[in-house]
Amino acid sequence: MRAVVTGAAGFIGSHLCAHLLAAGDSVAGIDALTDSYDPALKERNLRGPMSCPAFTFHRADLLDAALDPVLDGADVVYHLAAQPGIRPSWGREFALYADRNVLATQVLLEAVRGRPLAKFVYASSSSVYGDARAFPTAETACPRPVSPYGVTKLAAEHLCELYRTAHGVPAVALRLFTVYGPRQRPDMAFARLLAAARGGAPFPLYGDGEQTRDFTYVQDVVTGMRDAALSGFTGVANIGGGSPVSMKQAIAAVESVAGPVAVVPRPPGPGDARHTGADITVAARAFGFRPRTALHDGIAAMAGGGEHRDGAQ
Ligand code: NAD
Repeated sequence: MRAVVTGAAGFIGSHLCAHLLAAGDSVAGIDALTDSYDPALKERNLRGPMSCPAFTFHRADLLDAALDPVLDGADVVYHLAAQPGIRPSWGREFALYADRNVLATQVLLEAVRGRPLAKFVYASSSSVYGDARAFPTAETACPRPVSPYGVTKLAAEHLCELYRTAHGVPAVALRLFTVYGPRQRPDMAFARLLAAARGGAPFPLYGDGEQTRDFTYVQDVVTGMRDAALSGFTGVANIGGGSPVSMKQAIAAVESVAGPVAVVPRPPGPGDARHTGADITVAARAFGFRPRTALHDGIAAMAGGGEHRDGAQ
């Protein structure tokens, strides 16, 4: 398979590139190395894929890149490039989210339209659900994002669906539930918890700690992405870890691996869903998705190496 991965230098994108290369695919990665967090960390994420002859890297912004030479001959496009993060999506930063999540997706869909792709895999998000009323949440639940970030992910998902029905782009939108593992983005919970356990900044715990998240290990996510690409499935599917835990339980799990974590209480953040939990029946039936990594094992793998430590390289 010849794959194109947008957001290749990011947390999940770099794991996806490694997974595809290990499976024998050739991979063209695209990434603008935006300053959403330290670009040096993104460069470091690329070191593994760069050592493989089947990998080529294009430092480019989807919004103004010459995409045709990169897309020529591709069998699968995995679209992960985005401006992530919920809290900063309020206010003036929203323009970045609109550009990088919605406009960039439309530009890419226009560029792939009419090409003989086997699959276009879009990294959507559980944030499209907002405060879902049913748990675990199935794809049939009415999406009601509670953050501007979630609105942009839902808009891009609808664009994928529109280009599928109107122009035959074989799109799959995978709604990823809070992903963790080595090289996790430094703004995310487990990266911050591990940093706090190592004496870094105390962990800001928003709300009462009883909010739940369906944490999903990154290797399970990228395995599901490739399996979805190889399947005949199009449409929307949840990708979740299968056993939601509260933030208090997540902190205890990190402490059992890495030692005590200093916590500072904060009021609940605007845009934070109270609970997330994935019904993964669709993904299981359509492409055999099964989360294989227990939370404790995933945290131990993350603590063992690879995550970003307080700005260290
Ligand atoms: P990340 O920020 O580490 O990776 C995204 C990458 O996209 C970055 O390296 C950035 O430089 C690049 N990028 C952004 N805009 C670009 C553009 N216009 N052109 C080229 N490159 C661009 O984020 P991540 O956590 O790896 O997330 C990857 C994808 O998965 C995103 O689409 C995100 O919305 C989605 N997602 C992530 C999670 C999670 O828990 N991490 C959960 C649900 C969905």
